[in-house]
Amino acid sequence: MPLAARPYALTIIGGGFAGTALALHLTRLPGPLSLEVALVEPRPLAGPGLAYSPPRPELLLNVRPAGLSLYADEPAHFAQWLARQPEAASGTPDFAPRATYGRYLAQELAAALAAPAANGVRLRHFATEAIAAPLLPDGRRAVQLADGRTLASHATVLALGNFPPPPPAGPDYRYLRHPGYHADPWATGSLARIGAEEPVVLIGAGLTAVDMLLALRAQGHHAPVEVVARRGHWPAAHGPAGGPTYPNFYPELKAEPTVAGTLRRVRQHIARAAAQGIGWRAVIDALRPDLGHIWAGWPLAEQVRFLRHLAGRWSQVRHRIAPSGAAMLAEQTASGHLRTIPGRAVAILPDHELLRVEVARAGQPIQWLAAPHVICCAGPLLDYSRIATPLVQQLRADGCLTPDVLHLGIRTDASGALLGANGHPSAGSLFTLGASRRPAYFESTAVPELRQQAAALADVLAKRYCSQLP
Ligand SMILES: Cc1cc2nc3c(=O)[nH]c(=O)nc-3n(C[C@H](O)[C@H](O)[C@H](O)COP(=O)(O)OP(=O)(O)OC[C@H]3O[C@@H](n4cnc5c(N)ncnc54)[C@H](O)[C@@H]3O)c2cc1C
Repeated sequence: MPLAARPYALTIIGGGFAGTALALHLTRLPGPLSLEVALVEPRPLAGPGLAYSPPRPELLLNVRPAGLSLYADEPAHFAQWLARQPEAASGTPDFAPRATYGRYLAQELAAALAAPAANGVRLRHFATEAIAAPLLPDGRRAVQLADGRTLASHATVLALGNFPPPPPAGPDYRYLRHPGYHADPWATGSLARIGAEEPVVLIGAGLTAVDMLLALRAQGHHAPVEVVARRGHWPAAHGPAGGPTYPNFYPELKAEPTVAGTLRRVRQHIARAAAQGIGWRAVIDALRPDLGHIWAGWPLAEQVRFLRHLAGRWSQVRHRIAPSGAAMLAEQTASGHLRTIPGRAVAILPDHELLRVEVARAGQPIQWLAAPHVICCAGPLLDYSRIATPLVQQLRADGCLTPDVLHLGIRTDASGALLGANGHPSAGSLFTLGASRRPAYFESTAVPELRQQAAALADVLAKRYCSQLP
């Protein structure tokens, strides 16, 4: 690859947790590194991204402080920062507000943006969107920004995060234009359109639906909420802090090629743990460092089987909520304010100011729900063959971004380099991290996994590219 003169230019597209963690890890590598890092993030404040930007104190982190340091090699970094904040005046919260975590990320990043790092790495934030990144004749990419600027980049990293959920029902899509349909649960100001006395239907009963219930309650909403949930289950709650741990038993699962066999062994361990007075959560958590290996060890047909039969249940036990969220669900259900309806929303039909939702469940009669507001909480769109932002469309059309066959994200090699349709790394040094790497790891969502990806990718980039500079 022909290389331009120093300094080496890296562009990170997306300044949420993943892009920020990568930038910060680069500043902590041994130097000297002649590296200029452009962080492209349209939000005025880079760092918090989608998950940690909303200024809503009722939305809590779903991980305890000990698991949220930006740096795996300094596990207490966030907990120590939190202990110095006003939120910890009467004791460090077990589950802090997500906005507080956003402040932590923004402050860490702001310090790194303010001056070159000791290792020579310089960061700059470009507060705009990247709309294309075509290949240049010299092997770099020209990252084109919505404000008209272009960044010539030796390497480009996509840290694009989560995209709003796809429409949950079809083929009649007229509801998408109804003012009471909330297609993007994370859109700023979306809930402000819902009156305190207006009933609401939520499609999906995962972490996003819990967020919506908490946010509605905080804004004084007191009308009924009906929730359509495939199996009628909500995420499990975290157990008490500091409970007993369970030993990792991945070596037993390593040679297990089927989902059924893996599940059988996990259940055996849950029974064994219970006999010792240890709960199921500790057994699941014991496998956390190896979840990606378990997923990658299954053949494609088994991955398909997992997605079809177990992924929903897995998500419910793996992605847990704070105990206060579980208490809110129990209290609202008991008071009759919240009703959970097992089944699938198969149609949504506009009817004047109402939306009617058809709920189907195997072996049960069809149910119809009606409300002036329907919020789609069906989980982010992961399928990169359907993501229609200008940047993704351009990279896909150029053949350098290939969606995976299971529609979970982007095809990459082990380092996160994007693969073309021919299975070879795409020209122009394109990488990704975050949710887009679900094809490789399946679990590629939460902070502990993403900071590990960021540290590994920072190493790869520094070794592979900076050392080649003249
Ligand atoms: C509502 C919510 C709550 C969550 N809560 C937790 C939690 O409590 N604990 C936990 O561990 N994990 C949580 N997660 C998981 C979360 O996905 C990760 O923790 C992490 O925030 C993901 O970071 P990211 O950078 O990959 O994505 P994001 O935070 O979504 O950041 C991606 C950024 O890319 C930018 N972007 C996209 N396209 C472009 C473009 N073309 N040009 C420029 N910029 C672009 C976006 O503006 C965005 O800011 C939560 C996720 C969500 C959605």
